[in-house]
Amino acid sequence: MPTIRLVNVTKQFSKGSKAVDQLNLTIEDGHFVSLLGPSGCGKTTTLRMIAGLETPTDGEIYFDDTCVFSNEKGINVSPDKRNVGFLFQNYALWPHMTVRRNIAFGLENMKWDKKKIENRVAEICKAMRIEEYIDRYPAELSGGQQQRVAIARTLAPNPRVLLMDEPLSNLDAKLRNDMRAELKRLHKQTGATFVYVTHDQLEAMTLSTRICLMKLGILQQYSSPLELYGKPANLFTADFVGNPSINLIPMDAQMAGDAVKLSSADLQLTFRPNEPVALPESGKVVLGVRPEFLKQQDENAVDAQVESSLPSGMETILVTKVGAQRLTSVIFGDVDFKSGENLKMGFSGNKYQLFNGDTGMRLTSGSLEV
Ligand code: ATP
Repeated sequence: MPTIRLVNVTKQFSKGSKAVDQLNLTIEDGHFVSLLGPSGCGKTTTLRMIAGLETPTDGEIYFDDTCVFSNEKGINVSPDKRNVGFLFQNYALWPHMTVRRNIAFGLENMKWDKKKIENRVAEICKAMRIEEYIDRYPAELSGGQQQRVAIARTLAPNPRVLLMDEPLSNLDAKLRNDMRAELKRLHKQTGATFVYVTHDQLEAMTLSTRICLMKLGILQQYSSPLELYGKPANLFTADFVGNPSINLIPMDAQMAGDAVKLSSADLQLTFRPNEPVALPESGKVVLGVRPEFLKQQDENAVDAQVESSLPSGMETILVTKVGAQRLTSVIFGDVDFKSGENLKMGFSGNKYQLFNGDTGMRLTSGSLEV
């Protein structure tokens, strides 16, 4: 399976601004990479450029050492020569063909011999757990089963790379969960490189080995899901991943020895950085507190008042106010709180984030003292 390398890839459509701007990205062999970001950030365009369905305005694309696109060198390998499988949102199966024929059809077009096709169809149907539907027509299958057939059809020719554009978005929540697990299993089983477009951060977090987070055509961060969550490169990344969202609190900062004194109208805190930190000259920072790191406790805590409480059984999303500062936390267990109730909310551990208030870039993480 190849490593896919995008070098300074830019796409400018005739109308409008750049859909993808100077993208540098290496998708390592055998990885499951999600292209994540809000609507219009350039995910689909990037995927289509890898497939060869869209021509970049500038830059180069490599599959291992083979250049499949170069504006400068005048290279543009056609989609059918790139050996990629492509799974769209609308995976249109042929309605007049059985599952078996739907899968075999592409292989026949590729001039595979009859016995080889028969074996491959049986093999892939087993892997996708659709053997018992093999002689049914698409209309006789549920949405999830149809989706599995579509995946089987895409995987049948053994593509080196599987490109998927929001393939689960038409499925209901339960089925989507099941299919996610299926995709993860399939990735492991095939060893192929998966590139997956989604705007659903949870989907990207749970499926991927690496996430490429984009905004307005520009790469924001390319790292593992847990690094994206725990060490967000900037405020956009911090805010985009995690549900409920991270609390972002603008504060004034001043060094006090190795520590940082943070103050806002409602909060006075001492931040102890995990590594040496250089504050911006303006002293403007943004403190990032993930909801699970704001706890109901007596020690190292501030006085807060409950604004709203949303229990879901396993956990409760609690919104409190410290003065005018609204803070969201997640309390685990089946607890509930009354609106207006006074309680103490506190800090522990060293996973609080500090961002440069002027540039939005992450400075460091650390612990908090009241
Ligand atoms: P979504 O999640 O909504 O599908 P996306 O992140 O996949 O969005 P793209 O479809 O890659 O975004 O589009 C990126 C930008 O390029 C958008 O501003 C879009 O309007 C623009 N764009 C996409 N295709 C074309 C086209 N054929 N002509 C002109 N502009 C286009």
